[in-house]
Amino acid sequence: MKGIGVSPGIAIGKAFLIQKKEAVLTGILLNDSAEIQAAVERFDLAISNAIIEVEIIKNNPSISDNDIAILETQIELLSDPEIRDGVVEKIETEHKNPNDALLEVIADFVQVFESMEDEYMRARAADIQDIGARISKNLNGQGSGNYEFEPDTIIIAEDLSPSDTITMDVSRVIGFATQMGSKTSHAAIIAKAKGIPAVVGCSEELVSIKNNDVIILDGLKGEVHINPDQELIKEYKIKKDAYRQHADGLKTLRDLPAITTDGLQVMLSGNISGAEDLADVFDNGGEGVGLLRTELLFMNRDTFPTEDEQFEFYKQAALQAKGKPVIVRTIDIGGDKNLAYFNLPAELNPFLGYRAIRICLDCKDLFITQLKAILRASVFGDLKIMFPMISNIREIRSAQSILKEAKAELLRDNIAFNVAIKTGVMIEVPSAAITADLLAKEVDFFSIGTNDLCQYTLAVDRMNEKISHLYDPFNPGVLRLISNVIEQGQKHNIHVGMCGEMASDPLATLLLLGMGLKEFSMSAASIPAIKSIIINNNELKARQVYKNVMEMESSEDIIAYLEGITK
Ligand code: PEP
Ligand code: MG
Repeated sequence: MKGIGVSPGIAIGKAFLIQKKEAVLTGILLNDSAEIQAAVERFDLAISNAIIEVEIIKNNPSISDNDIAILETQIELLSDPEIRDGVVEKIETEHKNPNDALLEVIADFVQVFESMEDEYMRARAADIQDIGARISKNLNGQGSGNYEFEPDTIIIAEDLSPSDTITMDVSRVIGFATQMGSKTSHAAIIAKAKGIPAVVGCSEELVSIKNNDVIILDGLKGEVHINPDQELIKEYKIKKDAYRQHADGLKTLRDLPAITTDGLQVMLSGNISGAEDLADVFDNGGEGVGLLRTELLFMNRDTFPTEDEQFEFYKQAALQAKGKPVIVRTIDIGGDKNLAYFNLPAELNPFLGYRAIRICLDCKDLFITQLKAILRASVFGDLKIMFPMISNIREIRSAQSILKEAKAELLRDNIAFNVAIKTGVMIEVPSAAITADLLAKEVDFFSIGTNDLCQYTLAVDRMNEKISHLYDPFNPGVLRLISNVIEQGQKHNIHVGMCGEMASDPLATLLLLGMGLKEFSMSAASIPAIKSIIINNNELKARQVYKNVMEMESSEDIIAYLEGITK
């Protein structure tokens, strides 16, 4: 049977069916004010008990940080007056019994979430359903309904709620398959975080499974085998051992520092678009965020986000990073990134036009709002501010002066922020790379944006597929610029990282290491491969690679050489 493999690994065990006892509408109406008052009290007690239950699950020491965040969301939803008020209104004005009132209110909320365009938000309908079921169980005196599992249990269910998944005893539950669900459903996210193989979105065939049937679950391929023959079981036992060995290898890598065999340590961090990407960064062994692209916060909406909305977004990133550094890049719109509600003029050369820091310095209100929101969030973690598309020293000084104004406004209003917040610039324009010695005196760090640096240095539009063969980070001109930025950073004692795609190219790792790059920032999934190169090589070799490459005349020679030594 085929489904969607959402959490890799292989499990061979016995089926345990979870069938939900659905609460149903009874149509019973309340008779008088005494019954109404008693019903409201019973409902409030059910909510309080539901919150206590979730608190108890949350306080279990084996619960991961990721699960704690989900449970906190559930406590927030349970405490949300909107749900309570909706139910109480139905009890008081329509005389509905609390069970019916709750079912109707939850159904309305679920419908709202399910009709949202964003897949992630749609999947949150499961949270609402989950808390609805929890209140309902308490209302009907059914308690928390935890299950006793035998060892090697594979759970089979139509769907699993987040709390079902969180409370699973992973020493006994070795996998699960559900009829419903998607890659972003909570059950899938939690299974992945717990390392339980899981297949969701299986067909109706799943209902043919009976308790204690033997099941093989392949979470990688998304396959479920029911009562397989001995031959297939033998085959899968071998696959399971091979997978375990591979996973164990990666796991040990995840917790290792990115340090060469002769002791040179660098930082591997993630490029993210919001707090929700952070778990993946840490899961893959990242140690912080080298680039938080803030554009997503401004996209897919009709107006600019308010300072408070932005504050919440940056605060979440700071909190989820748990003290690890997060470099927040100020808005980088223009070029190929447009906002429907911000009338950017059509331009002949948008990438050379009105974009990023140029817009921010021109639209001071927009900029100061963002800076104040980041500053306010800076008390919740280690946030740093980075300005994109800097092409001269004046732009840095103007940006710093607006940052100073933002700080002064917060001071005046008695609002806390990190007064010593670090600031840096992206080096993605050739003039900035060439004058890195001058710019280094103005900031605390550089981050090299090779995506733009490459297009501007080579005069190759990064969006134009007709000339994509000319887009070449190994061009000696680009490499000389990168090398200069790192060298000047070292001379002036400031941190230099890279957050362009080149940081995740295994072909470039030794070369960049040899140049002295201190931080490699990339999408989470690329981190293990780059870490594996770093921990299996030494600084001496990296320096030699750098020296050799800088003597070469063409990118063809450089690439051929790097391919030769990377094999
Ligand atoms: C870059 O230019 O290298 C970069 C990281 O920024 P973006 O890709 O968002 O332009
Ligand atoms: Mg860029």
